[in-house]
Amino acid sequence: MSGEQVWAEVLNVLKVRVAPQAFQTWLAPTRVAGVVNGTVRVNVPSLFFADWLQHHYLNDIIFALKTVTGREMEVEFVPQEGVASPLPEPVVAPPPQVSSQFRLKSRYTFDTFIVGESNRLAWAAARSVANNLGRVFNPLFIYGGVGLGKTHLIQAIGNAALALNPGLKLCYTPAEVLFLELIQAIERNTRLEFKEKYRGLNLLLLDDIHYLVGKESLQEEIFYTFNALQDAGSQVVFTSDRPPKDIPTLQERLISRLGSGLVVDIQPPEMETRVAILLQKAKQEQFDLPEQIACHIASRVRSNIRTLEASLVRLIALHSLTGKPLTVELAEEAIKDLVHPDGPPEPKKVLAVVAEAFQVPVQELKGQNRTKRIALARQVTMYILRQQLNMSLKDIGYQLGGKDHTTVMHAIEKVEKLRTKDQAFNAQFERIIKQLNNGAPCPDSR
Ligand code: ADP
Ligand code: MG
Repeated sequence: MSGEQVWAEVLNVLKVRVAPQAFQTWLAPTRVAGVVNGTVRVNVPSLFFADWLQHHYLNDIIFALKTVTGREMEVEFVPQEGVASPLPEPVVAPPPQVSSQFRLKSRYTFDTFIVGESNRLAWAAARSVANNLGRVFNPLFIYGGVGLGKTHLIQAIGNAALALNPGLKLCYTPAEVLFLELIQAIERNTRLEFKEKYRGLNLLLLDDIHYLVGKESLQEEIFYTFNALQDAGSQVVFTSDRPPKDIPTLQERLISRLGSGLVVDIQPPEMETRVAILLQKAKQEQFDLPEQIACHIASRVRSNIRTLEASLVRLIALHSLTGKPLTVELAEEAIKDLVHPDGPPEPKKVLAVVAEAFQVPVQELKGQNRTKRIALARQVTMYILRQQLNMSLKDIGYQLGGKDHTTVMHAIEKVEKLRTKDQAFNAQFERIIKQLNNGAPCPDSR
């Protein structure tokens, strides 16, 4: 296949994955320049464009390249006219919808967000904020692991608030892009414009704020911007992969500011939520996904919704390209490169390995016995299920014979503390993890 053919196919795959408007804005204007040593060079209209693609579509593009060529390939975006203005030029007919102007994806709405136990609180807080800007939780701080819906939710706030008030002055920006803009403003001596742009907003949606780690200048800027916005009664929403207090090098005053409103987390989705997300996505793609296949994928891809979606896109591509029937085997083929080759260890294996290490029967881990050794083994199991498998508190409780999620939370905190305080314990813990990941044969449960 020539470079042009590959890129045309890649764009076809991306068309299914990316919202039509975003596709038109960001992907349609790209042109392939050539392929050198496994790297596809792609011409794009500006530096800003290159940054945007890099930060928002890189994973999608790499995934599409792999789908088309069957190989791991890299991609490099080559801006065509040096440094451009910090706003995308009208290289395509500007789409009539307001969203792109605000950098919002139109598909990220509350309607398309599936709610389950894992994300209910964050969802409820986000809706409440969208309906009562500046009047309820301000700031709202949403945190959670990769691919769990933070960007979806923060943009849904923007889309909903805009629908209520089309004249709203809002800005959605990943912290990374804000940083690039700040650097540019410093270089070009336009810092004042930069300040004014952000300080005149009614709603600031700042995504992935953990990016601020080690960037003192940006922290300072955000601190003052945030103060100014709050004084003016404007709403600010942040997302991060961890709570404010766990962002290292974040200045104390910023930590207390960030945590001064409402801090909510998003947990990894439960099985029902994962199945519902798959079925919804399939429906959006007008693909008839049998529930049994959805369940199979959901049981294999547990902790990242982005990977869950990628699995479905792959399944659709495989099914339509090869004509093979939709079976569990085909679903396995679709997900094989997306999940860890051996998969994360099964919960059952974690129980078995921990029971072995503590010399207690597996059944005791699921029981109520509070003997010190058994209780500790149970707590370590909970901790590993969380840390290594990214399981939800509820699912962990279920694996251990129906324990309450607060018990699980307490156990995780306790083991975390023990690991830092007690070296001997930590060494034992690490041996357990090693054994778990060595693929050592799973001892039969006793
Ligand atoms: P994060 O920002 O936390 O890394 P994203 O918001 O980018 O995650 O979510 C990854 C993908 O998963 C997106 O395509 C998003 O639409 C989808 N997604 C996440 N959570 C949900 C949900 N609850 N319902 C439907 N889709 C979801
Ligand atoms: Mg995100």
